[in-house]
Amino acid sequence: MKKIIYLDNAATTKTAPEVVDAMLPYFTEAYGNPSSVYQFSAQSKDALMEARGKIANVLGAKKEEIYFTAGGSEADNWALKATFEALKDKGNHIITTKIEHHAILHTCEYLEKNRGAKITYLDVDENGLVRLEDLKNAITPETILISIMFANNEIGTIEPIAEIGKIAKENGILFHTDAVQAFAQVPINVNEMNIDMLSSSAHKINGPKGIGFLYIRKGVKIRSFVHGGAQERKRRAGTENVPGIVGYGVAAELALNTMEARIKKETELRDYMIQRIETEIPYVKVNGDRVKRLPNNVNVSIQFIEGESLLLMLDSFGICASSGSACTSGSLDPSHVLLAIGLPHEIAHGSLRMTLSAETTKEDIDFTVDKLKGIVETLRKMSPLYEDFVKKQK
Ligand SMILES: *Cc1c(COP(=O)(O)O)cnc(C)c1O
Repeated sequence: MKKIIYLDNAATTKTAPEVVDAMLPYFTEAYGNPSSVYQFSAQSKDALMEARGKIANVLGAKKEEIYFTAGGSEADNWALKATFEALKDKGNHIITTKIEHHAILHTCEYLEKNRGAKITYLDVDENGLVRLEDLKNAITPETILISIMFANNEIGTIEPIAEIGKIAKENGILFHTDAVQAFAQVPINVNEMNIDMLSSSAHKINGPKGIGFLYIRKGVKIRSFVHGGAQERKRRAGTENVPGIVGYGVAAELALNTMEARIKKETELRDYMIQRIETEIPYVKVNGDRVKRLPNNVNVSIQFIEGESLLLMLDSFGICASSGSACTSGSLDPSHVLLAIGLPHEIAHGSLRMTLSAETTKEDIDFTVDKLKGIVETLRKMSPLYEDFVKKQK
């Protein structure tokens, strides 16, 4: 097989071998249902507890505040729908942003259309940052929830979460954050940051797919989401995904232990890649904040080019990248995030996201940028837009 250069770690990551090893016995040997009473199932029960502890440790949370779900999308749905249900007599207003993941945006639209919610979608600045003044101005006596993502999955911008948490707390409003891109990637402390609820997903941090959690601060009023058995302190029914949870725990522990070194290494490679692209390819714009940025995110708009053609040509060299978020490929509309930071449609269409992992090497980056340069030249030669532009320059 041709060598793959995987630069789409914001879409999903490779399950770490240590994670797979830790999971296997819970399929083959210790397969008992954690709710059963016999000794045999105690192993599964203990494994759940241990994983819960490892995950809580990443956030400075308590074990009992971690509620496992089937992934990030479910955690986001739960936080919004069940908070709205629990508090709708108090108020019907939710504040979020225009750059959230669709798991938040489409849930908000559902609540708006079908449940009588009023939603404020905050604008962001040209780097994708929420303005705290806008947030303060949006708060009304009806506001019951603020949901703002920790870090954006397309442009990598990290929001001022501690400041947002402070504003929410001062106003007695619950604060949820979609931290799927940030959990165990950057330091998070739910107490210092006044976070009441937080969503995460294992497959974005080298854990398995189909398992996530919602952190719910003790005392927060929220309805249960899946009704049935008494699992997850009666708030999320269904026999626990024991192997998945075990894998998640190990992935979280690994990510926490390697965080500092990984941030340093990825940040250096990220900035090296951005610098090479900016100096060697003309008419390029870097999207997202340059400093308040996920260590592994590169997002650039390459003028006069279609992102989809770029992806196909990169793919022919074994390079996996993305032109927006994985969920929006297949749609012709440019990414809502790129439009929200003010990019015109034609520029947004030529955008490329490359997200690194701990395994990405300088050689991978050099190979990718070298290929990208050639591809851009080829595509621009075929672009009537570029031809027009060059004529006007003369
Ligand atoms: C991937 C992602 C999700 C969805 O998580 P799943 O586990 O795939 O459902 C939600 N929010 C953000 C920011 C993401 O990057």
